[in-house]
Amino acid sequence: MSVFPQLALKPEVREHLHSVYTHSEVVCEVGKEEAVRAFEALLSCLSHPPMVTCVRVSTHLHTLKDIQHKLQQHVTQISCRDGSGSPAVIHTHPHLPDVLLVPVSGPRCVDVQGSEVIVGAQCGNAVLRGAHVFTPGVLGTPKFLKAGDVVSVFSDIDGKCTRGAKEFQGKKVFLGNGVSEVHRSDVFCSEAPARGVAIRMTEPLYQSPSFDGVLTEDVFLQNLPSVVVGHVLGPRPGERILDMCAAPGGKTTHIASLMNNQGAVLALEKIKSKMEKIIQNANTLKLDCIRAYCCDSTQAVISHPTHDYNADGPPFPEESFDRILLDAPCSGLGQRPNMSCRWSLKEVRSFQPLQRRLFTTAVRLLKTGGVLVYSTCTVTLAENEEQVSWALKTFPRLTLEPQVPHLGSEGMQGAGLSHDHRRLLQRFRPELLWGGANHIHYSESLHHHANNDTIGFFIAKFIKR
Ligand code: SAM
Repeated sequence: MSVFPQLALKPEVREHLHSVYTHSEVVCEVGKEEAVRAFEALLSCLSHPPMVTCVRVSTHLHTLKDIQHKLQQHVTQISCRDGSGSPAVIHTHPHLPDVLLVPVSGPRCVDVQGSEVIVGAQCGNAVLRGAHVFTPGVLGTPKFLKAGDVVSVFSDIDGKCTRGAKEFQGKKVFLGNGVSEVHRSDVFCSEAPARGVAIRMTEPLYQSPSFDGVLTEDVFLQNLPSVVVGHVLGPRPGERILDMCAAPGGKTTHIASLMNNQGAVLALEKIKSKMEKIIQNANTLKLDCIRAYCCDSTQAVISHPTHDYNADGPPFPEESFDRILLDAPCSGLGQRPNMSCRWSLKEVRSFQPLQRRLFTTAVRLLKTGGVLVYSTCTVTLAENEEQVSWALKTFPRLTLEPQVPHLGSEGMQGAGLSHDHRRLLQRFRPELLWGGANHIHYSESLHHHANNDTIGFFIAKFIKR
């Protein structure tokens, strides 16, 4: 039996996804029963965290081995301090030279022990991936909460709990027990509410070392498929690269690190506060070849620049970049863990036209011979394989290219792509590995889990001929 409910979707969205996963072409290949099993498994595994945490190392500053050693020391110290059993062993990845893998254990059997603290869904998802509860994530606490109290933490998965609640009867999911480091008044009544740890998790359902504030300039927590994107783009020192939808800068900083901080990485982001996060991350990771701009990337190209036009920032003239990453805004249905998505089908569908406008700008901005990588963290056909099918028809100069490394599955059927084309795509499909939470173990191979028990993700690589 699973600890959490399956990812809850609006019926119309569930039906839509069901039709994608049980499309006649899929059924023809794997049979109806397996197609339905994969769909149900998808909804189950999306509500659970991946069982391996992926840490990207700043290899422009240090060797992988040095950081592996330091992180292992950190993890060992924490488990000695907390008495939480034998420390997780940190592994390298056979195909990703800048990745360390940390096994997660769980779900553990934990009894509800204290009075209830309710946290927002986003905070709850972070807790399931090893974080403690930070004050801004707290929505409700008992009336007389004080520092030192043992509490049981619950996630308000439907977003119904009002801030400051003293009790909450809505739908909530237990995440584990912890010890409060704050009084209720520190969270809700203070003029300058605390921002640090509010609840230190002592018995989380899923146990994974917290890396908060640890080796901040040396490591970056990133989902494995996102790291694969940087390698597939293949940036080289000295090149001029555009990252069109860049905040908070996980992939931007990876690209700059792969270039050994030499060249120019231009990072665009529509929302100013998010753009500032890119700058902050670039500074922390000591990457000064990154320049970030607040810009709507659908407007990032200028057709006829005058001779005195200054192309340092957007809009840029056509054919300005050696490589472009379009990590598109998407419905995000591959994110894990995620227990509830309240979007309507109309909202889910709204991303396809925006992605096409961004893609069209990307093609114009790319040099002849340049590389364009398109990626999303969602599982729909409309935002992934259908976009590739559309792109190949709309831009005859684009060819679909093999990806290195190719760790995911091939693209899904149903969007009219040939098998040869689908084989060039990379779709991370955690449902193919999923056998229920109680079956998660990595006795066979940690690497197999690292590559397959990921978030749902999609990558396509093109060259402009
Ligand atoms: N690449 C990022 C990373 O790895 O850290 C994640 C990017 S996230 C999938 C997509 C981002 O695109 C969001 O931050 C969103 O605000 C931004 N965005 C949405 N529409 C945009 C537009 N028209 N132009 C630029 N950025 C946009």
